[in-house]
Amino acid sequence: MALVASEAAQTTGGARERPKESGVSPKVGEITAMDPPASSARFEWERHLLFLEMTVGSLPSEYESQEINRLTLAYFAISGLSILNALDRVDRDQLANWVLSFQVHPRTEADLDNGEFYGFCGSRTSQFPPSKISSRNCSHLASTYCALAILKMVGHDLSNLNPEAISRSMRNLQQPDGSFMPIHFGAETDLRFVYCAAAICSMLNNWTGIDKEMAKDYIVQCQSYDGGFGLLPGSESHGGATYCGVAALQLMGFVGTKICSKETVIDIPLLVQWSLQKQTINGGFQGRSNKPSDTCYAFWVGGVLKMLGIFELIDKDALRNFLFSCQSKYGGFTKFPENMLPDLYHSYYSFAALSLLGEPGLKQLCVELGTTSLDGHGK
Ligand SMILES: [Zn+2]
Repeated sequence: MALVASEAAQTTGGARERPKESGVSPKVGEITAMDPPASSARFEWERHLLFLEMTVGSLPSEYESQEINRLTLAYFAISGLSILNALDRVDRDQLANWVLSFQVHPRTEADLDNGEFYGFCGSRTSQFPPSKISSRNCSHLASTYCALAILKMVGHDLSNLNPEAISRSMRNLQQPDGSFMPIHFGAETDLRFVYCAAAICSMLNNWTGIDKEMAKDYIVQCQSYDGGFGLLPGSESHGGATYCGVAALQLMGFVGTKICSKETVIDIPLLVQWSLQKQTINGGFQGRSNKPSDTCYAFWVGGVLKMLGIFELIDKDALRNFLFSCQSKYGGFTKFPENMLPDLYHSYYSFAALSLLGEPGLKQLCVELGTTSLDGHGK
């Protein structure tokens, strides 16, 4: 599916803010004919930009099974371009209109209290036209988070979205234990969707969609005996869940930016210990104990350490070397060093982790929102 006009992909915008390089600048179609080393210590700007542009324009067939997550995939591509300072390679108005086409609107204001959530669907296949007999509203918290993040990145004014409608109907998803369902007709409830709800409220600058005290109590219950967070109370600590818990608490104002803050509701020293122990012998981060390092956890766990203000305590050179060992010759990053092909998910989080490491030319992140710094995001 084409998102962006082909002429937009041919522009060379973004190059002006990149460091001067003496390397090649391949054109689309030429990249498979080249045979550079699988990894190098140099950030391969042009290859990464071509990789991201390709995924904005159309996705390889391997992504067919993820069609339901089309907005999420677009978020990885657009947010990646944003980190690389190259959003001028896309047609922002066209992109915003495409994202807005996934919004589900209530027919009347009374609909906001009918138990449904009025946010964004993830793709066309989950978007059913309203009918007199039934209308299946598939608005999803994760899709809504991705939609709002893209719209903010391309400069769309979110106040035009009727933030009150999104926030008020989002209340229908919060459960008695403080967690959130992602969709109004039932699904698993866990920390991922508490995070999405907090990030949505933050971006809309409207907190009527969440009972913060209930959400906080749920998150606190998810901190495990070893200091990390599981997706559910009592479950094994996991890097992604830990990011979701800590970032949601920070967005809601329950943890400060300093490790020594006494006004925290979780066990910070234990969290610090668990997080630092996730950096392994090869420099990368693992998501769970006794698992191999994986590029995405460089952001999930590295982001936690950044929010806690102790990112400097990690071995940054070793992490950078690990990430570059996963840099693909096709642009993007792989999950593990031994993988051949990059994927959007691990590429995006590798870009994000390199931003945390201060890679020259990359934009800074708003770590708790998981995207580039957004003006006026409600903090
Ligand atoms: Zn991963």
